Amino acid sequence: MRPKIVAANWKMNKDLSEGIQLASEVIRRIQKAKKRSVQVVLIPPFIHLTTINRLAERENIYVGAQNCHEQALGAFTGEISALMLRSVGVTFVIIGHSERRQYFKEDDTLLAKKISIALKHDLQPIFCCGESLQIREEEKPIAFVKKQLSASLFHLSQQEMSKVAIAYEPVWAIGTGKTATPEQAQIMHEAIRMQIREKYGKETADNIPILYGGSCNEQNAKKLFACPDVDGGLIGGASLQAASFISIVNSF
Ligand code: PEP
Repeated sequence: MRPKIVAANWKMNKDLSEGIQLASEVIRRIQKAKKRSVQVVLIPPFIHLTTINRLAERENIYVGAQNCHEQALGAFTGEISALMLRSVGVTFVIIGHSERRQYFKEDDTLLAKKISIALKHDLQPIFCCGESLQIREEEKPIAFVKKQLSASLFHLSQQEMSKVAIAYEPVWAIGTGKTATPEQAQIMHEAIRMQIREKYGKETADNIPILYGGSCNEQNAKKLFACPDVDGGLIGGASLQAASFISIVNSF
């Protein structure tokens, strides 16, 4: 059975003491919630990773990074590699978030390299895909997302692909307060799973977690997570408060 994952993408928010406070509060509330069948992932800014991981690992909470460089080491001033992330206890890494695609011009080819280096260093990539509003209005979102997947993931072997998680994040829903309806999310998630099945077979497709991201919050999480092909969420804004994040985690 594929895992359920709820991941908190803090983006460029929280200084160190705020980050410690938020992580500690998430941990405290999770301890109270006793039964937990969901993998919880905290994804703070790079410089907080070691500190947050020390708090989280005792409680079986995973830590992820928001990005990594496509090389393992070298003269790339200001960059952080997958090798370094693994060395401080990071488990997951977001690759291809729409903000990286938009503001840092990361394209499909670069993302394919980042996926490979992440897997090589034992990180689980959370590969983000999703269409703009214009593409949705032109009624081509499925073809667009399928192209993102084939361009950045389909060089992987079956064994490598089985270690990837996917996050479907319609760009028009990220940080906008507009959420995909459960029907829209399910249609896309099912199409993604079918595409993986055609390329890698049923077992790989059935086991790959596909998360939804885009203004997911405590009001809409339950209905989104009830969709058969939605295996969790990548949460931005609503992950910045422990109460709303935990309420999303508890929506399964
Ligand atoms: C995100 O950036 O991954 C995201 C889903 O953000 P938000 O929840 O704020 O839309």
